[in-house]
Amino acid sequence: MNKNIVIEDYIAPIREILADKGHDKKKNLRRLIYRARKINSSHLQKSLTVDQTVERLLQPQWRAKIRRFDIDEWRRVAENIRQRAVEYLGKAAPPEIITYPGFGRFNGRVYKLDGRPVIGCAPDFPRTSGDNLKVILAHEYAHFIRWQKTGVPPEKGPIYSFIYEEGWATWLSIKLLPELDINTMFMSNLHNMINMPNPRGGYIAWCRKNMDLIVTQAQKALKSRDDKDIGRFFQCRRFKDDDTPIRVGYYLGYKLIETMAERYPPRQMLLLRPKVSEIEARLEKLRV
Ligand SMILES: [Zn+2]
Repeated sequence: MNKNIVIEDYIAPIREILADKGHDKKKNLRRLIYRARKINSSHLQKSLTVDQTVERLLQPQWRAKIRRFDIDEWRRVAENIRQRAVEYLGKAAPPEIITYPGFGRFNGRVYKLDGRPVIGCAPDFPRTSGDNLKVILAHEYAHFIRWQKTGVPPEKGPIYSFIYEEGWATWLSIKLLPELDINTMFMSNLHNMINMPNPRGGYIAWCRKNMDLIVTQAQKALKSRDDKDIGRFFQCRRFKDDDTPIRVGYYLGYKLIETMAERYPPRQMLLLRPKVSEIEARLEKLRV
């Protein structure tokens, strides 16, 4: 196993090719993306071919999105997060991070590459520097170490396991970054920017006030594997007649893990494989 943090960066090489004045831009980009075709496929969940990715990179507005990308900042933040995790949890494997375009779909996710979990980040997403970068890397690192230990991928399974996985990642990132305020930790500063409904008074205040409603909705869907339920609670998808704020599953999961932390030490929660009955009972206690 690697002792050091690994960052495989594609953003700086892409930026360099795009800054080139010559005529070989397209050819050079194609060569780079073709070499990274396995990453292109996993990172973008097979939504774009090599040629489609190259086309998108050549669109004039794309380059502006990575203007502020600084690989040294990413490395510094990743090292700092890992160090804090080791202090908090004991042993924790160093992260393997891939920085690759995401074209606005996500800022970070964990996926499998050549049989092992990696952290895939998309620095072309809005606000992927400063405090937000700390939040992204802490959150994805929490998924990464749990996946390594349990073999359970965070993006699979029924709603109750999503609640635990996302709750764990959110809760641990809050523990690792105590200097940041709770709104930053939930990235509610992004909601308006990506055209998502944001309730009056803000995401956190809404969730606190409507905890009963969130618990009721989640309990009805605990065993569901339906795309719509996952989209509603955890992604940024909206469906007809639904005007609850987006991503409420993260807050719910965070509150759940907070109560579990009274019973289990963090190291044990890293390894736990929760049962639906335990999640259900604990959610019930979150009602106000
Ligand atoms: Zn997550």
